[in-house]
Formats: sequence, C-alpha cells, structure tokens
Amino acid sequence: MTETARLLDCGFGIRFWGTRGSIPISGRSCNRFGGDTTCFEVRIAGRRVIVDAGSGLRRLGQAMAAAGERDATLLFSHLHLDHVIGLSAFAPLWRMGGEIALHVPACTASAEAKLSALFSEPFFPVSFAEAPSRVRFSSFTPGGNPGLSGVDVATIALQHDPCAAGFRFRHGGQTIVILTDHEHAAGDPDPALAAFCGGADLLVYDAMWDEALDYEPHRGWGHSTWQAGLRLLQAVGAKCLACVHHSPELSDASLEAREAGLKRRHSQSFFARQNDVVVLVA
Ligand SMILES: [Zn+2]
Ligand SMILES: [Zn+2]
Repeated sequence: MTETARLLDCGFGIRFWGTRGSIPISGRSCNRFGGDTTCFEVRIAGRRVIVDAGSGLRRLGQAMAAAGERDATLLFSHLHLDHVIGLSAFAPLWRMGGEIALHVPACTASAEAKLSALFSEPFFPVSFAEAPSRVRFSSFTPGGNPGLSGVDVATIALQHDPCAAGFRFRHGGQTIVILTDHEHAAGDPDPALAAFCGGADLLVYDAMWDEALDYEPHRGWGHSTWQAGLRLLQAVGAKCLACVHHSPELSDASLEAREAGLKRRHSQSFFARQNDVVVLVA
C-alpha cells in the first residue's frame, strides 16, 4: 500500500508535505528531507485538516485535484510567508464549485483582512473573490476554539509571532500535538505548554536549531531546538518527537547528524522528512 493510500484509509494520522522552515529550497543536498515549507495533512475521523499552507501545499493540492477533490479545510498556525506561500498554488482554490475554509489565528485584524492582503496587488493579481471556488474565512484566538465541527482540536498561544497558535488533535484515544513555530522559554518547559502536551503520542516540534551548534546566535528569533523538544517530551510523557521547520541552511547530511544525536537519547523520535506518514489509528 502506498503512503498516500495508507493515510487515506487511516482513522487518525499525519503526512508531512513540507518540513522546511523560513523559505523553500531545492537541490541535491535536500533530496531526503525535502525543500518545501510547512504543510501537514492531518487525517482525523474521516476528515482532512491541512495545517499551514507552505510550499508543500502545492503537491497536496495536485493530489487532491487528481482525486477529484474540491473542498478543503485549512488551519493556520500563523501567517508568516513560509506558512502561506503555497496558497496561491493550491489547485482546489481554482476549481469551480469547491469550498475552501480558512481558519486563521487573528488577534487584531480579521482572518479575511489578513489573508486578503496577500491576495491583492502588488503581491498577487487575483483576489479571493475572483477565485472560482468559494472561500470562507474564520478567525480564532490562540487558546480558543478554531471552530472545526466534528474535529477534536484545541489551540494554545506559542512564543513566536504575537498571534501564533499550536494545535492538539485527539481521536480514538490518541493525541497529535503540533507546535510550530515556537521558541522554548528559559527554564523550559512552560507549565501551560506542558499541560497542553501531556501524554501526546506524537509531538511535532519546531527544532530549527541545535543548542550546541547554532541556537545562541538565533536566540529570540522565535524557533526552538531538538534538545528543548526532547525535554518537553520527557517532562510530559509524550511518546515520540517529530522535529520540523528545518533550517534552509542545513543539508540532508547535517540533519541526519542531528537526528542521530536525538535518536541516541530517544530512539523512537525522528527528524521529519518530506512525505513521511505517521498513522496513529489504523
Ligand atoms: Zn516558519
Ligand atoms: Zn513563523
């Protein structure tokens, strides 16, 4: 069974369509981890929730178009460019009759006002109103309910953009927590975050830096380390850490070296590669 079919058939799982941070990259040095930016497909209770619209969203949209799927639900962690850059290339947006629901953390302006700025001159020539699909906007405050009916998902404010959100999906007794983008607190883990992550089966975590190699020059930039992710996992009794938001400066070999360090301390954890699939409920 292909990875896509395995995910389609599952009750609860995730596919990593893009795991790179900051900006898409390409070339032989990133063949294994991939160069597309953040886009995760969560399958839950017979539904698909797309977390973030980084450049990985383009290939997911192609797969949906090939399968004749027109409707989509997208949930955004925040609206930095690497998390929205794939939206204009999302095939279902340009199909007549489709319904695209965009759920956006929006602490000051509405979701529609924020995303419409991206779909207007001089950044893009076509507005959402001109797209053939029907686009619906929904705002939520991090910590509040994002309003996905039939999906057990909670949110929490993260240490990154002033309005960045993390997510906790639950289904069938299993839990996936997604924390990107996020910088850990001094003296981590933060008690509220630890409570949010308690007992997670899969903890998807912003591990852009390594504490020994490159975190210090980037302290305060809003990203974390695999070591902080591991401390969080151990503090809350999570089962598996999936590191994401890889620096565009890091080759496959560099990421594999960091992953080896992680695996020496927790063998089940890993650095997520583009197209990886994790099934929690078959
Ligand atoms: Zn990012
Ligand atoms: Zn960001």
